[in-house]
Amino acid sequence: MTFRFGPRPTAGAAIVLALGAALLPGPLPATATGTDRQAADAGRPSAGSAGVGDPLFPKAGNGGYRVGHYDLRLTYAPQRRMLRARATITARTTQALSSFHLDLYGLTVDRVVVAGDPARWERRGQELVVRPARPLAADAAFTIRVRYHGAPRTYIDPDGSLDGWSYTDDGAVVAAEPVGAMTVFPANNHPSDKARFDVAIRVPDNLKAVSNGVLTGRRTSHGWTTWRWHEPDQMATHLMTATIGRFRMLRDRGPGGLPIWSFIDPRTSGARAIAHRIPAVLRRLERWYGDYPFVSSGVIVDRSRLGYALEVQTRPLFDGTPDLSTLVHELAHQWYGNAVSPRTWQHIWLNEGFATYTEWLWAARRHPGAAQSRFDRLYREPAGSSLWSPPPADPGRAANLFGRPVYDRGAMALHALRTQVGLATFLQAGRRWAQVHAGGSARTSQLRTLAERVSGEPLGRLFADWLWRDGRPDGY
Ligand SMILES: [Zn+2]
Repeated sequence: MTFRFGPRPTAGAAIVLALGAALLPGPLPATATGTDRQAADAGRPSAGSAGVGDPLFPKAGNGGYRVGHYDLRLTYAPQRRMLRARATITARTTQALSSFHLDLYGLTVDRVVVAGDPARWERRGQELVVRPARPLAADAAFTIRVRYHGAPRTYIDPDGSLDGWSYTDDGAVVAAEPVGAMTVFPANNHPSDKARFDVAIRVPDNLKAVSNGVLTGRRTSHGWTTWRWHEPDQMATHLMTATIGRFRMLRDRGPGGLPIWSFIDPRTSGARAIAHRIPAVLRRLERWYGDYPFVSSGVIVDRSRLGYALEVQTRPLFDGTPDLSTLVHELAHQWYGNAVSPRTWQHIWLNEGFATYTEWLWAARRHPGAAQSRFDRLYREPAGSSLWSPPPADPGRAANLFGRPVYDRGAMALHALRTQVGLATFLQAGRRWAQVHAGGSARTSQLRTLAERVSGEPLGRLFADWLWRDGRPDGY
């Protein structure tokens, strides 16, 4: 993610947090009771938990199952702001379940079918609690079908950002980091449970509908066009998009013939020229970080009120024509954030630190020493600066997720690492990281272990100084 006016200042977040909290729905959902836990211990069916235990977003994701695939069929009528949808979720239980949760914000549920049988459900704030007709056995594959409809509601994050579905004057953008996917579809909404996606979006035939991966079909009948998208690689729910509007579609080829589809709002200027830079940027990033991890690329440039750009998987989304550095940032996320996602939101600096540092490396191609001079300039900021607190790997609360420490101090941490081990070893560790964890999610301690193995150097002090300790590190 890149904010139009730079990372969010940490100061003042408390006010926005209060506003965000006022908009949160409903009472807290009940978590597993003592009886349920005893039942789970005994292997008897019990209730799946309402969250996966994320320290910053306790209700994000759900316990008791993991998703393999989402098949989403969306029909959107922009004049009536009406979404009609069907989600078919293929999952596997991790415990015997008498009931389980999905995350869904707003929208009206019409019908839920589990393992072929109609199921009972109830809404508890952003939790959709489903009770199957018969309990589900442990370690068993099952499907969930949910029919739902309504006018999607934008979620307001604790830092005040628009999250998930946002209306535009010609349709909608979907930018769902960190939790906004639940404004569009019922999900196990957490980056620790990635899945494959098929998304079909039916819209009036004067509009286009954009999602992730490859465009496998486009069919028009009776004034409506269905756009079919297939993402065969593991994807976190927050990286899904279903963006709808008037677009020019540009086709191009990247490294190794990689298909590139870009969607440009015709009212923007300069976006076509930026889209044409994608192949060259990807070639350079491949040299640094290894093979591009996905089956397609492109950009979506739409006019919206978002105020930020997002690294939507395969097809980053911009709220206006980006500069080259911002394009580089969002494309770098395809390796760092998308192929390898944070195990919990606490570790988001693994996304933003790498993407920001890639901007520094990019600048250093033209101006040798640019990375060092950016580091030096930041390092001169006074001890009381918002740059130094909270530490990047421990942002403390959700409102700090996109703060300066996560971006700038995260990039400084990687520069300190690169200075200690050398650029070649640093890039080797970066490549290894993107390979080893591709399709999964990882945490900060795993990066330290990997970097120590690749470099043969102890890095405990460097990681503690730059990522875990409050305040400006001494002696760098
Ligand atoms: Zn970013």
